Amino acid sequence: MAGKDYYEVLGIDRNASQEDIKKAYRKLAVQYHPDKNPDDKNAEAKFKEIAEAYAVLSDQQKRKQYDQFGTVGSGAGQGFGGFGAGGFDISDALRQFMEEGFGFDIFGGGTGSRSARRRRANKRGADLQVKLKLTMEEIATGVRKKIKVKKQVKCQECNGTGSAKYSRTVACPTCHGSGEMRQVSQSLFGQMVNVTTCQRCSGEGQIIENPCQSCNGTGRSSGSKTIEINVPAGVTSGNYIPMEGEGNIGLRGGQPGDLIVYIEEETHDIFERRGDDVIMVLPISFPKAVLGGSVEVPTLTGKANLKIAPGTQSGRILRMRNKGIPRLHGSGMGDQLIQIQVYVPKNLSTEEQKIISDLQNSENFQPQKNDHKNIFEKFKEALNI
Ligand SMILES: [Zn+2]
Ligand SMILES: [Zn+2]
Repeated sequence: MAGKDYYEVLGIDRNASQEDIKKAYRKLAVQYHPDKNPDDKNAEAKFKEIAEAYAVLSDQQKRKQYDQFGTVGSGAGQGFGGFGAGGFDISDALRQFMEEGFGFDIFGGGTGSRSARRRRANKRGADLQVKLKLTMEEIATGVRKKIKVKKQVKCQECNGTGSAKYSRTVACPTCHGSGEMRQVSQSLFGQMVNVTTCQRCSGEGQIIENPCQSCNGTGRSSGSKTIEINVPAGVTSGNYIPMEGEGNIGLRGGQPGDLIVYIEEETHDIFERRGDDVIMVLPISFPKAVLGGSVEVPTLTGKANLKIAPGTQSGRILRMRNKGIPRLHGSGMGDQLIQIQVYVPKNLSTEEQKIISDLQNSENFQPQKNDHKNIFEKFKEALNI
């Protein structure tokens, strides 16, 4: 690793801008991505190498150190956390590729710019996560939801500046205005300079002389906001919707973080979801099963009429096309699958009892020779859904 020239790996010169570095990384990473080169060990090694070079050169502190010393981090990896002796492994490389916004989430890479922004602005507020419970009906149609999110908001007292009235900013006495803390140490590779962000001023180089009393100079306070979310039809538990800029407000006017809304699907009384299909069991009366006819069936969007053929057996599965859940990707809908159960009455009047007992010995009411087999087939089919 130590012998590798990161600039050479990315095919750029030593004065390359951050934009050039990103472009070169993107181009090469797409070319050598394991998804495009399955089972190709050379491509995988190359992909890791590119990722490692990018991780160093895209980070200004690491790049500075690399330019100066030709390596990043001592043998123990002190101070630079990440990949000292162990190297950059494939999962790190893939994660980085995703975080740089070149990966794909369900809504088409909407979260991609987040980590890039995070590095530039250390005053940025934290991302927040919330769960959003949805009924199956809401998922079937898509829904607009309002949720109240507790988060850090701008301090009203100082309008987010963190500064008391008539106060001014002065150079940070801890870092003398540089925003960085430097620690020089001796290591196997010679003198190492460990550069970290100054804790006192969060790297700004300046502090407020008289901080706002209300927010202790942070520029933010606890609050809440009601946020409206448009949920597309067809989502499922585990999907998430990134709401840019709806997280905690940043420190002293810094950029806000994002709000990540995780979808959670509630269980339903009648339906169960299988992918984009919904399944249910429908009891029908004995005469209806014998004579056939139409029954009203609940669906996710209301009701539908289902035709029952004369002589429909218990256990039979009927399919109503396009009555399931819309597909999140692409077009079309799932189906509604209905398993028929013939309801056997328990309490009969004397008259009803007589009618039934008259039918008891009727030839047509006896199960047929092949029914064992047929019913068993239906049973197995039902177990498979
Ligand atoms: Zn304040
Ligand atoms: Zn400082």
